[in-house]
Amino acid sequence: MIVNVSEIGDGGLRLDLKKGPGWLGGSEKSEVASVDSDIEFHIDLLRTAGEISVRGEIGFLAVARCSRCLSDVNVDTNLEIKLLLSPSDAEGKTESGGDMDYETYRGRKIDLNDYMREQVNLSLPYKVVCAEECKGLCSECGQNLNEQPCSCETRQQDSRFAVLKDIKI
Ligand SMILES: [Zn+2]
Ligand SMILES: [Zn+2]
Repeated sequence: MIVNVSEIGDGGLRLDLKKGPGWLGGSEKSEVASVDSDIEFHIDLLRTAGEISVRGEIGFLAVARCSRCLSDVNVDTNLEIKLLLSPSDAEGKTESGGDMDYETYRGRKIDLNDYMREQVNLSLPYKVVCAEECKGLCSECGQNLNEQPCSCETRQQDSRFAVLKDIKI
């Protein structure tokens, strides 16, 4: 995803491209979630007074593990990209604020790979549940309680009642 600044004409430059999950490199692979589809980019680059605005969307399917029952959950992910690139020789231009990201570029080429990779990695869910009412796994026997109850559950309840019985009122 390297763009020649000269390719960005007066009307801007539209990038529509796809990258496989391998493009992420896997160095920051999270154990909780990973990308499970091609990653689609629809990005508009516009040149404005020396700066380059990069706006668009990234879409992909992430697969994450339910934090309660450990089953796989598909998470449809759409990210909005709002980035403003300034030439690295522009002095002390550190205006910030709003919801834009600011980066610099050097020379005549912009390499968007690192920035886009970071955005994808940051957006991976770190905690998901397959459903709000997910019952999770039994801590005793590991049974997925969404599928069927296990016998420990009743025993646990029994012991809880036993504790209650011991309390003297
Ligand atoms: Zn679950
Ligand atoms: Zn159990």
